[in-house]
Amino acid sequence: MISVEKVYKSFGTLEVLKDINLEVQQGEVLCIIGPSGSGKSTLLRCLNHLEVITSGKIMIEDDLLAEKLDGKNQFKIAHKKISEICTELGMVFQRFNLFPHMTVLQNIIEAPVSVKKLSKAEAVAYAMELLKMVGLEDKKDEYPARLSGGQQQRVAIARALAMKPKIMLFDEPTSALDPELVGEVLEVMKKLARGGMTMVVVTHEMGFAKEVGSRVIFMDKGEISEEGTPEAIFSNPKNERTRAFLQKVL
Ligand code: ATP
Ligand code: MG
Repeated sequence: MISVEKVYKSFGTLEVLKDINLEVQQGEVLCIIGPSGSGKSTLLRCLNHLEVITSGKIMIEDDLLAEKLDGKNQFKIAHKKISEICTELGMVFQRFNLFPHMTVLQNIIEAPVSVKKLSKAEAVAYAMELLKMVGLEDKKDEYPARLSGGQQQRVAIARALAMKPKIMLFDEPTSALDPELVGEVLEVMKKLARGGMTMVVVTHEMGFAKEVGSRVIFMDKGEISEEGTPEAIFSNPKNERTRAFLQKVL
């Protein structure tokens, strides 16, 4: 579903991603762990075209999202519009980013109605299904400010799902939450994973990675320094840096 080949990304002279190679298959839950500043968010943002890569190639499904050849300023992009490719991807951020002046329901139907041109009735019907899935049907007319962080994040997940993405990207979706609210968000993510959603999850929740992850990659200084099954990474890390990191977080 996702293929990343020899991707580099720099901000000015700062090289943030170096030679990233990655495949994500349908139904996989890929967890990305690693220290702060190692490039995890930048990698997710490149997948979503929120950042433009410096060189390399990214395919989403069978569509070329970006290809840039080193040394040449040749930037080839997809036959399909980038915006069209990116609707295959839903993204959930650390901060919930809900529209504060809209109710829960309005937040969820906004994009399906304005971008996908769904009728309001259709969008509402699907939004209610999603609210049921995240356990917040009774909050549909509430404004975000009146919800807890965990509830807001569950709405953010429902809002991303409303566009019927094929892949969901999560960037530390629970790290801004009070500890007691983390579980309810992880539960929703587990439900999605069990339902077969393809997911790429940047997380500090090692329990989630162990339980739900099909594969874990450890990023360090812009590189993928270790990759493997959760068992392999957590019980027998090969790389010294992975070991040191896990000792700190486990
Ligand atoms: P964290 O765990 O703290 O979220 P991260 O692994 O997600 O860290 P990134 O946010 O991808 O790390 O950042 C990687 C590096 O790129 C950092 O040194 C950061 O300062 C730098 N960086 C990220 N975005 C930009 C930007 N827009 N302009 C300049 N530098 C940036
Ligand atoms: Mg980050």
